[in-house]
Amino acid sequence: MSLPVVQDAKGAATVETGDSRRHLLDLSLNELQQWLAKAGQPKFRARQIVHWVFQRRVADFSQMSDLPKALRQRLDESFRILVTSSSASVASSDGTDKLLVRLPDGGEVECVLLRDGTRRSICVSSQVGCAMGCVFCASGLDGVDRNLTTGEILEQMLLLQARLAEGERLSHIVMMGMGEPLANLDRVLGALDVARSRDGLGISPRRITISTVGLPPAMDRLSKAGVPYNLAVSLHAPNDSLRSELVPVNRKIGINAVLDAADRYFDSCGRRLTFEYVLLGGINDREKEARELVKLLRSRTVMLNVIPYNPVAGLPYVTPNNRAIAEFRKTLEQGGINVKFRQRKGSEIDAACGQLRRNRGSTASSDRDS
Ligand code: SAH
Repeated sequence: MSLPVVQDAKGAATVETGDSRRHLLDLSLNELQQWLAKAGQPKFRARQIVHWVFQRRVADFSQMSDLPKALRQRLDESFRILVTSSSASVASSDGTDKLLVRLPDGGEVECVLLRDGTRRSICVSSQVGCAMGCVFCASGLDGVDRNLTTGEILEQMLLLQARLAEGERLSHIVMMGMGEPLANLDRVLGALDVARSRDGLGISPRRITISTVGLPPAMDRLSKAGVPYNLAVSLHAPNDSLRSELVPVNRKIGINAVLDAADRYFDSCGRRLTFEYVLLGGINDREKEARELVKLLRSRTVMLNVIPYNPVAGLPYVTPNNRAIAEFRKTLEQGGINVKFRQRKGSEIDAACGQLRRNRGSTASSDRDS
């Protein structure tokens, strides 16, 4: 049987509907090994298959030349390797590529490749839309449609890997695309298991960051997973009244519960925490907030990542001016906080999550026709 979805890791093709085969990338290594055992095959075949897909970038069983021919055929009858396609892409002059990824049910998510020196970082989505409702963010404007599957998360990584030149490797992953990764934790962890495995993408968990709005029970589950991923917590405000305005889920949680859960993560994994702070002109960028932040964070081992707002069409928020940014920075630095002010990489291509999907048609070039 030939693949109705003819799509290698480099190309985009339409996805045939009505295909009942399972999505290979939704299986854990364990599940694939079990399937192979039932087919009378040794365990190591699972690693061979993963190696072909992620390291050799082959998405067609017939090309997996170290597998027995009969097995290749059985695999092909049972599994599809890729089910998504890149439906649009934009490249920015600073080396940032953004893809719009079309899912089998027609949904779309975004993912980004950032080139910085030798770093090749990717920003990956975990859900279609987002339920968290952060008032300044484009991803949640229409709420959440659904969780992505493990395989759909992994395919974003493959589609971005395919943009690399020969010899280049992905070096870092940030789960900072659309959606709340901790609201889809099992699938995110399943995908990251493959991303960090030797036959998968081989990326150390120390180079993988999971960003969360701050959901304490899921943060505790992540602590218990015992893998030293970097945890980034989107704080955006130093007190409950402002945070609840900007990040509505905070009303039911509260900033102290978020910080306590972050502390527990630090205690169990020993990884320095990152807090993210989107700087919104006239809203959370004043001396008052900077001083409160110093009080909140100075006793903790943290990096504060300040991100000047990337404006979203239709939303009333603005990027602070350079003077406000510089003053905010000074107060934090004088207070002894480790801060990084993130450059607005990719801003010319709507790299802030959720923007390409909304602006589709005006800036994006369609890959499907090319
Ligand atoms: N739900 C997760 C991850 C998704 S977004 C979280 O909240 O952390 C990753 C980061 O980008 C978050 O800190 C988010 O608040 C921020 N962000 C969203 N929209 C933005 C925009 N328009 N400009 C700058 N940062 C933005």
